[in-house]
Amino acid sequence: MAADSSKIPAWPAWRQLANGDPVGLGASAFSPRSRALKARINEADRAVGSVCPYCGVGCGQQVYVKDGKILDIEGDYDSPISRGCLCPKGAATMQLVTGTHRVKTVLYRRPYGTRWEEIPLERALDLVARRVQKTRDDTWEDQHEKGHPLRRTLGIASLGGATLDNEENYLIKKLFSSLGVVQVENQARI
Ligand code: SF4
Repeated sequence: MAADSSKIPAWPAWRQLANGDPVGLGASAFSPRSRALKARINEADRAVGSVCPYCGVGCGQQVYVKDGKILDIEGDYDSPISRGCLCPKGAATMQLVTGTHRVKTVLYRRPYGTRWEEIPLERALDLVARRVQKTRDDTWEDQHEKGHPLRRTLGIASLGGATLDNEENYLIKKLFSSLGVVQVENQARI
């Protein structure tokens, strides 16, 4: 059993030997301050299982919540993908929620504009829909010159980001295929 480190001199090598902890990874690595530290997640009401949204690896996460607010996001030890680990991006996921740089409104820079304007989401969706429709109409190929049916447009392509999950990718593929778009890719596959 390790000795009581509070009664052992402060010299590190001596403390490690006296503690039966020669490599200094046990009790002798603690200071009074670090012994008093408590994990943030001790205060949580509950933990909610989730998946890191940053890339296609899909590491498991536990989102710790207190009073309806996120306290911390950590790796999920039960995940067969990541076994509790998160890379630096995944470990910083909480900033997606709390980061002061997060953009929460739609920003639009009109053609030849020099600054971003805030516009309502409905207007942005309407602009996107109109442009998709116009591009599709202008570039539609109904059939090959030899008469084979094509029913496609090469004027639109979709490149998804790795933060899209399986369900979002499924819906994106369905949407673009229904429009006759054949160039549909995802960054995680490249
Ligand atoms: S960004 Fe990092 S933590 Fe997130 S899924 Fe990819 S590898 Fe895992």
